[in-house]
Amino acid sequence: MPCRRQRVEVRRIALERIDRLFEAADEVFHVDPVLSHRYVELARRISMRCRVRIPRYLRRRFCHYCYKFLRPGVNCRVRVAKRREPHVAVTCLECGKTMRLNLRGLKDEGKREA
Ligand SMILES: [Zn+2]
Repeated sequence: MPCRRQRVEVRRIALERIDRLFEAADEVFHVDPVLSHRYVELARRISMRCRVRIPRYLRRRFCHYCYKFLRPGVNCRVRVAKRREPHVAVTCLECGKTMRLNLRGLKDEGKREA
């Protein structure tokens, strides 16, 4: 069992790699979407192995059902709904499923959320 300091270090590196993989996925998407999907898969693996959650601002960038990289207007549809709990509904056009992302409590988190 790694000590607390090591755990913090592992977490920091894992988050950094996840962030970079999503960035790379975004960059190659228009040339090679399959490669972007692969990057998402790698990011998920890192998050599972290091037991780190994928940051909230990245959670809407991939489908939670088929794990494909999503780009609004290309392979997903994003709409904001105010009824019930205010939420963003992201429909994956690869598998047709809809994810709901809650908007409550968003103000307290980083600027990258917007
Ligand atoms: Zn999907």
